[in-house]
Amino acid sequence: MSAAYQIIDHVYDVVVVGAGGAGLRATMGAAEKGLKTACVTKVFPTRSHTVAAQGGIAASLGNMGPDHWTWHMYDTVKGSDWLGDQDAIEYLCREAPAAVYELEHAGLPFSRTDEGKIYQRAFGGMTQNMGEGPAAQRTCAAADRTGHAMLHTLYQQSLRYDADFFVEYFALDLIMVDGECRGLLALCMEDGSIHRFRAQSVVLATGGYGRCYFSATSAHTCTGDGNAMVLRAGLPLQDMEFVQFHPTGIYGAGVLITEGARGEGGYLTNSAGERFMERYAPSAKDLASRDVVSRSMAMEIREGRGVGKEKDHIFLHLDHIDPKILAERLPGITETAKIFAGVDMTREPIPVTPTVHYNMGGIPTNYHGEVVTLKNGEPDSVVPGLFAVGEAACVSVHGANRLGSNSLIDLVVFGRAAGLRLGEILKPSAAQPMLPTDSADIALARLDKFRNADGDTPTAKLRNDMQRTMQADCAVFRTERTLDEGVGKIDAIYRGLQDIKVTDRSLIWNTDLVETMELDNMLSQAVVTMHSAANRKESRGAHMHEDYPNRDDAGWMRHTIAWFEGWGGTGGNVRIDYRPVHDYTLTDEVGYIKPKARVY
Ligand SMILES: Cc1cc2nc3c(=O)[nH]c(=O)nc-3n(C[C@H](O)[C@H](O)[C@H](O)COP(=O)(O)OP(=O)(O)OC[C@H]3O[C@@H](n4cnc5c(N)ncnc54)[C@H](O)[C@@H]3O)c2cc1C
Repeated sequence: MSAAYQIIDHVYDVVVVGAGGAGLRATMGAAEKGLKTACVTKVFPTRSHTVAAQGGIAASLGNMGPDHWTWHMYDTVKGSDWLGDQDAIEYLCREAPAAVYELEHAGLPFSRTDEGKIYQRAFGGMTQNMGEGPAAQRTCAAADRTGHAMLHTLYQQSLRYDADFFVEYFALDLIMVDGECRGLLALCMEDGSIHRFRAQSVVLATGGYGRCYFSATSAHTCTGDGNAMVLRAGLPLQDMEFVQFHPTGIYGAGVLITEGARGEGGYLTNSAGERFMERYAPSAKDLASRDVVSRSMAMEIREGRGVGKEKDHIFLHLDHIDPKILAERLPGITETAKIFAGVDMTREPIPVTPTVHYNMGGIPTNYHGEVVTLKNGEPDSVVPGLFAVGEAACVSVHGANRLGSNSLIDLVVFGRAAGLRLGEILKPSAAQPMLPTDSADIALARLDKFRNADGDTPTAKLRNDMQRTMQADCAVFRTERTLDEGVGKIDAIYRGLQDIKVTDRSLIWNTDLVETMELDNMLSQAVVTMHSAANRKESRGAHMHEDYPNRDDAGWMRHTIAWFEGWGGTGGNVRIDYRPVHDYTLTDEVGYIKPKARVY
């Protein structure tokens, strides 16, 4: 097989896959430790989805009022609906202020208060005094283009380090030898050459898989390729049933209107003009956490109080806010509302609907970024040579529901943590054993099969079937019936890959082939997501199961881990097991935060 393809070999200490916020921070951290580092990315670094983040990055700086990292920790644990690992959450919240100052010193152009401090806005679920309230202004922002500012800052900084960038290279598969990750295979999309990276460690920073759904705020490149590589390596993904719907995607287009809009005073209304969030979350109202707001909106629509001709969406009002404030703090979404909804938001409300936004689930790791699995009864068994950071990873700090602005901070805190750990455990330029001669065969067989696929189903058709099914059967509200039907449908769609048709047989910029491999990647995750959702018989965070409407801590306060066998429409079996939630903290500065009912 490999004879048919030209293979170019590389040797590195560390290969990072992905150049979003998480991948760039990990690349810088590894290079800083003197490790020979490569960063492989399918899009130019500054086009990674991190660039689209709007609202901001959470850290308890206390610039706008009292704040403390333990308050941030409390809110994150509660936001996670007690599925987050408390040692990792402590690490995140304790390290957050230093990570934001590091970005500031690297040149991130934050918005400023009158005194020149970093400006911070209110975000959903962020409170003072261990949940007692009032709202905390904790989300550091560069207007409503925080991700853009952050990604450009990180990319510029990363050029100072001695790391090699492989841009527009599509990672195909991990090279696993006896349960250890020893490298990676990638396709150079420009000329079709195959690149085999031998490395002491691989870091997956490939982002989320929002594009499994029909309506998502994420970029078309968010196909979760790293997650799928992990499944093909025989390792499990964790908590995949937890998919976040952002309350305010623009109706029809799916483009995001940041939660910062509500943080600056925006509010939602139904067809009666009522501010209905007051009924569902009497104290936090429009700034309750995302799962709560999305569910309330879906409920209003279901009970016939949606707006518009079809009564199928909700209005977001910013028209009562001083246009000068809007121009200063929310210039990006002012433009977005005009282009994608055709409204002047200084005068009229924006039509919005809950839209897929973030994947809480992903590759299980510890707080050093090391990938873990359940092995011989040991739930935190480290997979040698493999790390994961960013949205691809499930540390798990977000548990069953992520709080807004807690992802950008997760990227830099755990990107840095991975760099530190790599520096501890690897020796620069240490000798590496040779790879087995067949190390490229499996990945190339898959590439070759898709390249010559000659069935009857176009990639776009099967992708549409998958996206529609996930949107209909694995949505904000789930029932035994929709999930059981969904399992049957998504399994059949997965098998449909056997009949896929790729038209372009070349190796030069073959987007038809790359999109088909991305579809194969997405389908394994869609299957795992649907099966994991059907398996969890309770409601927690973003997983609202109407036949089991309550959280069941005795039965279900545990992480789902799911293995998937096969690719390309063959196999397709899902095996499910569990890892315990970490109910301990790193230090006794703050003890274990005990579960209670989650009201906002
Ligand atoms: C519209 C929008 C707004 C958001 N706003 C906020 C916000 O205000 N605050 C907040 O905290 N969070 C926000 N989020 C969430 C947050 O932005 C993301 O979770 C985060 O940016 C993900 O970063 P990442 O580094 O993990 O991955 P990404 O930024 O998605 O980058 C993934 C990288 O992996 C590479 N890659 C993927 N597959 C392959 C492959 N096969 N081969 C090679 N390379 C590959 C890509 O090239 C890319 O460089 C927002 C998300 C969206 C969609």
